[in-house]
Order: sequence, then structure tokens, then C-alpha cells
Amino acid sequence: MILINENHSFQYEMEKVCRIFYPDEKIRTLKTYEETDETKVVHTKIENSIISVVVKVEEIKVEKSCVDEKTESEMQMARLLVKALEEVTGIYPSWGVLTGIRPSKLMKNEIDNVGREKAIEVFKERFLADEKKAVLAADVSQREEKIIKTTSDKHFSLYISIPFCPSRCKYCSFVSHSIERTNKLIEPYIENLCKEIEVSGKIAKEIGITPDTVYFGGGTPTTLNEEQLKRILESVKNNFDLTNLKEYTVEAGRPDTVTQGKLELLKKYGVGRISINAQTFNDEVLQVNGRRHSVEEFYRAYEIARKVGFESINTDLIAGLQGDTLESFKNSIDSAIRINPENITVHTLSLKRSSSMSTDGEKIKNDAITVSEMVDYAQTQLAKNGYFPYYMYRQSKILGNLENVGWCKKGKECAYNIFMMEECSTVISCGAGAVTKLKEPDGNKLKRIFNFKYPYEYNNRFDEMIDRKNEILLFFDEYKK
Ligand code: SF4
Repeated sequence: MILINENHSFQYEMEKVCRIFYPDEKIRTLKTYEETDETKVVHTKIENSIISVVVKVEEIKVEKSCVDEKTESEMQMARLLVKALEEVTGIYPSWGVLTGIRPSKLMKNEIDNVGREKAIEVFKERFLADEKKAVLAADVSQREEKIIKTTSDKHFSLYISIPFCPSRCKYCSFVSHSIERTNKLIEPYIENLCKEIEVSGKIAKEIGITPDTVYFGGGTPTTLNEEQLKRILESVKNNFDLTNLKEYTVEAGRPDTVTQGKLELLKKYGVGRISINAQTFNDEVLQVNGRRHSVEEFYRAYEIARKVGFESINTDLIAGLQGDTLESFKNSIDSAIRINPENITVHTLSLKRSSSMSTDGEKIKNDAITVSEMVDYAQTQLAKNGYFPYYMYRQSKILGNLENVGWCKKGKECAYNIFMMEECSTVISCGAGAVTKLKEPDGNKLKRIFNFKYPYEYNNRFDEMIDRKNEILLFFDEYKK
């Protein structure tokens, strides 16, 4: 595709709009018009106070124009381009021109300015979002607000990264290592992780903050055996004051890693919330996507979790998986609802460069319209069955420019997910790939401290990395004065 941007500087925004409709397209950008044999040409221009957009794809040509209002030029042009591309492709993106990660944050600002009803209208008219998405953003934003109010600058979230899984799913873009390949890294990793937890605990005590949420993510933390898990749980218990803890979550994502012994251990250490991820209730789809467990194993793990007494269980599903169909996805949603977990998180597949599906050059067969129907079905059914949307984010390369939404039963929101996503409180993180986010007390300034990404780097350069933790003290020192 050739994208010509004449007499304006909105190249980045126009390119993002084109990618909503043509996510895999190579886009060559030009500043002036030139004759070309290219079959897809988009020409955007501002001239004599007129904004114009011409889209030509094969034999179809659509032209749009409007008077430049000056204060809104970029948004006016984006809207024209979306409308032109809709006519050419027959795809009607439900978020309109919105491509950002957090539509609910944008919605919050609008609600603060003009109130809920008008904010929904702004989403529809200014951003061309459809009614259902605008209402979803408003619902999420208002539910998030309630949870955000429960934290304060005296508290923080503790994140522990366990970047290992039994094997790597084809669509995975996390820093997750298959234990088949990296088993020997695990022991030194746990040793270092416990040291980092100890250092972080001392720092938190010195600053005078205590965790209100703890979250073990990864990877799949339950890939570790009981003894290994116990060492980490013990380290958290011994190094942090957990008296103000409101939520303790451990991801047990891969059902085949779940045993009664591990879940009893988690329960004993105060873990109240776990995530066991079905992703789909279709065995063939699991296999095609390189997820080496069965639907039956998911049911078994879920049953164990209930038997052990977990009252807050999340399960993730993904819309748009390779080999999935609308009917099969509907069955996944219905099956998840039937077992009645407290949280169901519906992701839309996002094909990041680091996933093996991307590097192997596999083409996803689900088109934007089908994936949109999947997500739409999920929204309708979950709402009908007593689930509320409570957090939402979007990723680059997400199919159909759609979204990931956490749904929960009343009062079962995962606070950590909201704090993390909305960046409204400090997160101290330990382990490979973890990012500590420091939030200025009584303000919004954020500072990030990055740990080394991969376990081998984490192990090899541990001392260097642990020195960075002192930046936490320096950051909070500034606000003591
Ligand atoms: S279980 Fe999750 S973290 Fe592990 S490989 Fe699969 S998608 Fe990645």
C-alpha cells in the first residue's frame, strides 16, 4: 500500500488507521503524489482549508472531504479515512478511529468533563466507536474507579514473575520459557528471585509502604514443583508485612500444571485467587495453537481448585485462535459460563512478532468480521449471565482492532489488574521481565525500573540488576522532603 500524506504531519495517525483495515500490509509513505502501479493507494491532503481523503483499492475509488476546522484537523482526517476505508473494505471497526491501549482511561476523562451520557455520545461521534463499545468503555471506567479508590500511597502491589511454562504456546508473546529447554535455569532463578524479594521487602519497609495486592504471573508459576513454590511463597511471607493485603493471586494458567498439592500449598499461604486458563473448549483448537493440554484437563484442574476451596477463580478465553470458528467460540463462552467462575477474561488474539506463530509466518484465518462477532457474542452472553466488565486493554496487532476485557461476578474484580493497567499505584516487581512502576505520592508522575528480560540474563547479571532497586528509595526520598 502507498500512503501519501500531503501538506500535513499526521502520517503516524493515518498509518495506524490504515492498519485497522489492512493489519499485515506493508505501507510505503510519501509526502507528495506520484503515479504508481500499486493496487492500494491512500491519498490524504490539506489544501485551501479543505481536508481530503482519496482511497483507491483495485478498481474501487472513494473520495471524502470536509472543511478544515483547524483545532480538530487530525481527528477530522482520521474520521474521513475510516469512512472511506469502510466503504472500500466493508469492514466497520467497532472502535472507529481509536487505536490506543486504554479506551477506558480516555472515557474516564470524558466522563469527568461532560458526564456519562455525553461521554458515550463523544465516543460515537468524535471517535466513531459503536454504541456497544462506547457503553463498554463507560462501564469499565466507572467500575475501575470504585476499585482505584480502595488503594492509597501507603500501599503498593507486589508482582512476582515466574517466566516458565511446560511448553510454549504458538501465539505466546510473553517472556516465557519452556522448561523442556531451560530446566537448569530454574534453581538459580529461584535462589536469585528470593534474594530480590528480600531486598525489595527491606526497601518497602524503609519507605513505610505495605502491599495491598500480590500477584504471581509469568509464564505459569505452577510449572514449579511444590518445594520450589513453597520457597517463593515463604520468602514473600517473611519479607513483607501482609497485614493490609486484600488480594493474593497466583496464575495457574496451564491446567496440566495444577495438582491438589500445589493448590493446597497456595491456599495455606493465603492465596485467594487463581487463574486456570481454558483459552478454548475445543481440543483441536488447543492442539493447532500448540497448547499442550486438553479440555478434560482443564475441567479436572477447575474441579480440584473448587475442592481445595478457592472462591475466586478466573479463566481466560481467546477470540480468534487459529482453527477456531464462531460456533466453536460460542461453545467456549457457554461452557465457561456453565462452570460459573468468578472471573472470565476474554482476550482477542494479538499476533506479536515474538510469538512463534508470527515467526513461522502462519496466516490467521479468522477475519476481522468473524472475530468481532465472537467478541460481540461474549459481551452479550456474559452480561446476560451476571458478569460485569471491570478492566480492559488493547494491544498492537490485536485482531479486528478489538479489545481484551476482564469480566467478573459482583464484587470479584481483580484489583491488581486494574492498578497495573491504570497505573494508579506503585507496583514493585521481582523476577525476569518484571517492571517496577513507581507512582509519585499525591501525583501522577511515574518512573519505571526494568529488570533483565530473560532468565539467563537475570541470573548472569543479577548483582547489576539488584543495584537498580536502590532507585526505588531515591524516588521516594524526593517526596519525603
Ligand atoms: S501458558 Fe501462557 S505464558 Fe505460557 S506459553 Fe502459553 S500463553 Fe505463554
